[in-house]
Amino acid sequence: MKRPVYLDYAATTPVSQEVLQAMLPYFTDQFGNSGSNQHLFGWEAADAVEESRNSIASFFHVKPSSILFTSGATESNNLAILGLLEHQTPGHIISSVLEHKAVLEPLAHLASKGWEITYLKPNLDGEITLEHFIASVKENTRLVSLLWVNNEIGTITDVPAIAQWCSNHSIICHSDATQALGKMAIQHLYLPDLLSFSGHKIFGPKGIGGLYVKPGIGLQARQWGGSQERNLRAGTLAVPLIVGLAKAIQQIPLLLQYLPELEAKKKDLANELKAKLGNSIVINSDSQNQVASILNVSIKGVDWEKLFRSMPLLAMSNGSACNSKSTFPSHVLKALGRPDDMALASLRISLAHPYLQENHEWVKQYLVQHLHQLIHERLDTNFE
Ligand code: PMP
Repeated sequence: MKRPVYLDYAATTPVSQEVLQAMLPYFTDQFGNSGSNQHLFGWEAADAVEESRNSIASFFHVKPSSILFTSGATESNNLAILGLLEHQTPGHIISSVLEHKAVLEPLAHLASKGWEITYLKPNLDGEITLEHFIASVKENTRLVSLLWVNNEIGTITDVPAIAQWCSNHSIICHSDATQALGKMAIQHLYLPDLLSFSGHKIFGPKGIGGLYVKPGIGLQARQWGGSQERNLRAGTLAVPLIVGLAKAIQQIPLLLQYLPELEAKKKDLANELKAKLGNSIVINSDSQNQVASILNVSIKGVDWEKLFRSMPLLAMSNGSACNSKSTFPSHVLKALGRPDDMALASLRISLAHPYLQENHEWVKQYLVQHLHQLIHERLDTNFE
C-alpha cells in the first residue's frame, strides 16, 4: 500500500540522520550508566550527559545547572506546575484555554486542591494579549503558565513580554515551548522562569524533553529514588536520548532556515482552499501572529470521520495527537467560537522541511478534489 504523505509534523517528527548517528554509540559500545562513577563506562556516559546539558544551556544562553532532563514536555509541565505549587497554600494562577492538556490537567489537579485558576480566552484571531493578561492579574497571583505556540492553530503568544512583566512584579512565569522550538528563534528572546520542551517535535527522539528552571526558582520533586537531576527527577538517565535531544537542539538554526519556504507552501494551500471551496470552509489559523508551519481548516457540515476516511493518502490530524483517541471537539477551536461539528470536522496540516521533497501540487489537488466532493455530497443530500 502506498504510504500517505506526512502532514502531521506538529504531532511528531522522524529522528534526523544527524541525531540518530550521534545517539547510536550510546546504545551499544558506550552503554554505561551515567551514575556509575567507578569505571570508564560510567564516566563516558556522565560526560555525554554533561556535554549535552552544556550544549542545550549554551543554545538558550543559560547556566547548565538550570537544565533538567525529563521524559518529554508532559513531564516538564507537570514538574514545573506541580513541583512549584502542589505543596503551597492555594492562591491564584493565570493560564489560558489554548493550553495543551499537559498543562490543563495539572492545573485541574491544583484547582481540586483549592487553587483559583483564570483561563484567558483568545481574541478572534486566537491570540492572548499582554493587556488581557495584565487585566487578569490579582494580588495573590502566584504563577502564570502560557503556551508559547499553540499546537493546533499555531498562534504565538508574546511570552517574553509577559515573562518580563511577571519578573517586574515578582510572579513566576512558565511557558510550554514545545511547539515554539524549531519554529521561531526563541533562544534569542527573554525566557520565562520555567520553560518546557520536547525532543520529538524537532527531529529528536521520543521520550526525552527538558525543563529550564531559572536559578532561584524552588521546585519540589514529584518522584523519589536516586539523586539524579539535583534530586528533582529520580531515575537512570536516558543517555542516548539525552545525546539525541542535544543534537536536535543544535540543529535548530538549520530548521529555522526552511521557515520561509514552508510558509509559502502553507499560504499556497490556504489560498487554494479559499479559492476553490469558498465559504464551505473556515481557516482557523489566519492570524498574522503565527508560526509558518500550521494550517488549520474547518469544513462546514461534513462528518469528521468521513472527512478523514476520504483522504487516506494524506496523514493529517484534527487537532492534538494527545486527544485523537477521543471524539471530543477541540477545546482550542471551541474557544475560537467554532460549533462542535465544525471543531470536529477540522484538518490540522503541519509542515516541516521533509515536506519540501513532496509533490506539493499533487497534495493540493488531492486535498481540494476530495473536500470538494465531500461538500457536494453534503449539498446533494440536503436537496434530497
Ligand atoms: N505541549 C504541547 C504544546 C505539545 O504539542 C505536546 C505534544 N503534543 C506536548 C506538550 C506533550 O509533549 P510530549 O509528547 O513530549 O510529552
